[in-house]
Amino acid sequence: MTTELEIGLYIFMLAGFLGYHLITRVPPLLHTPLMSATNAIAAISLVGSLVVCGSDYSNVRYGWICATLGFLAVTCSTTNAVGGFLITDRMLGMFRTSAEKRETGSNFRWGLIAVGVVSLAAIVYAIVWKRRHAGHAGVGAHALQFSYIISAAMFILGLKGLSSPKWARRGMQLAACGMLLAVLGTLFDEKIVSFTLIIIGFVVGSIVGGGMGLQIPMTAVPQRTALSHSLGALAACLVGIAEFVRYEDMHAPRLVALDFEVIVGALTFTGSLIAAAKLQELLPGRPITYKGQNFLSIVVLAIVATIGVYLVVSQRASPLFYLMVFLALVFGLLLVVPIGAADMPTVIALLNSYGGLADASMGFVLMNKIQIITGSLDGTSGFLLALLMCRAMNRSAANVLFGAFGKVESEDEAAKAAAAKGTVRSISHEEAAVLFENARSVIIVPGYGMAVAQAQHAVAELADILREQGADVKYAIHPVAGRMPGHMNVLLAEANVPYDQLHEMEEVNPSFPEADIALVVGANDVTNPAAKSNKASPLYGMPILEVDRAKSIIVLKRSMRPGFAGVDNDLYYNEKCMMLFGDAKQSITKLIGEMKALI
Ligand code: NAP
Repeated sequence: MTTELEIGLYIFMLAGFLGYHLITRVPPLLHTPLMSATNAIAAISLVGSLVVCGSDYSNVRYGWICATLGFLAVTCSTTNAVGGFLITDRMLGMFRTSAEKRETGSNFRWGLIAVGVVSLAAIVYAIVWKRRHAGHAGVGAHALQFSYIISAAMFILGLKGLSSPKWARRGMQLAACGMLLAVLGTLFDEKIVSFTLIIIGFVVGSIVGGGMGLQIPMTAVPQRTALSHSLGALAACLVGIAEFVRYEDMHAPRLVALDFEVIVGALTFTGSLIAAAKLQELLPGRPITYKGQNFLSIVVLAIVATIGVYLVVSQRASPLFYLMVFLALVFGLLLVVPIGAADMPTVIALLNSYGGLADASMGFVLMNKIQIITGSLDGTSGFLLALLMCRAMNRSAANVLFGAFGKVESEDEAAKAAAAKGTVRSISHEEAAVLFENARSVIIVPGYGMAVAQAQHAVAELADILREQGADVKYAIHPVAGRMPGHMNVLLAEANVPYDQLHEMEEVNPSFPEADIALVVGANDVTNPAAKSNKASPLYGMPILEVDRAKSIIVLKRSMRPGFAGVDNDLYYNEKCMMLFGDAKQSITKLIGEMKALI
């Protein structure tokens, strides 16, 4: 083993441990920004892409292919970096306490313009300097080394910032500066001799990423994150292919890393595209299963692995490499198509982890330490987040990947079972308004239905009215309410609800017995008492919000249809429970109207 490889492996391992400690300190409140932040940091594939794009290929057969692949990789990675940091910043800007809300507006727009101008000036300066001092390799190498060391520290401190909403935004801005510094340092790399394609890639990526980062609504964060993973993974795969086309200095360890980079990059690319398409409802959200599905996937994976081993053992530039890449792309499709849309957040977190590993492999191929560090951090973060989600749902990762959970048929069956089960009390808006008028303590339990109805602003308005009437209002947040980790936190932050009013499950559960009303807004599974009492229920063992212990319960939903798990909710048959049927936003708007009429 070469010393460089040995050092690389140590760095990979240590960064993984560090990542574990940093990520476990991130509160559930910030899990969605964390996903988006690690995704932005994973755009470090940009540094490797720059080298491949700007290298001298005059003596390389098919060198133009390498330059073109490098250019595409620069464009994809720039899109990822710009879009990822912008949307993370927008999201974190919404997390404020009641006191911070009262402070005057943000300087975000001016800050953004200033960062843009400084970045542009620094990049132009680096390119001009490089052209004038083409022979000064020593200075360039030092600039590169120091920029990487400092940017690694900035990434780590940036992730550390996510341990509290107070520091999270500044932390991520620091990480964005770290990315800029790493890119600037790379421009001094002596291997980069041509800048034309690099500049075009920067411009195109910044326009696309900037548009995505500034325009995409918060509700579309999961699909944007998936799309972003696909771009990052594509960049890693393209760089790997370019390195193979060049086929220089290919010893066994480098070939192992290269195989890993293109295989994981390719399957993450297609898998993430399918995930994004399912979340955007371009593809049916239900699990698409067929006979022999697992067998086919295993056969394809086995062929991919066999070709990979053959390439390492033979150490030849065999065209089988391209078959391996193609089959890895197919495997990504086979892996994600059978999984239902509702499980996509967990899949996205896993794909995030794969993307990180592809980045780290690229770091081993190019012997680039900053890529090894960030790839390892990203890999650990995605993996941990996926495990946390599985634990909060009381399901195994294997069940998520291969269980085809949440089939539509089961929802219909459960709806029939619900109809046969017993009495459900419904309530009118007028009656609900009277109950709220007399309530002194209300706990609001938001769920996926609030996201579907886009009811967060109406919910916040109702809470404000209740507070004005002297009631104590709390929001109870289940870690897997909605369809992505921290989904409810992001929506309520968007509706200007200060995060100090949001209470995590363990903290708020003891307050339910004192609550006059528990208002359930489109939440279902996360309130189902069967999770505690019915061993036969698929939800058994999942920690829930103990809404059934409140003095009275009002549930806003459209019908008796079940939620994600496809099981009937015992809560609705509780004698304290009243159903206010209808779209959550419309129901709350009417309720507010009735309450105002009573004043
Ligand atoms: P849920 O159990 O899926 O229930 C959502 C409810 O919202 C449905 O019963 C639906 O009933 C109602 N609804 C839909 N549209 C509505 C509208 N316009 N107005 C009012 N109600 C509406 O959601 P949850 O309680 O939030 O639980 C989340 C589930 O997703 C859990 O099972 C969790 O394990 C799973 N999950 C979460 C994540 C994550 O990261 N958060 C990831 C993967 C899976 P109607 O159709 O009758 O209106």
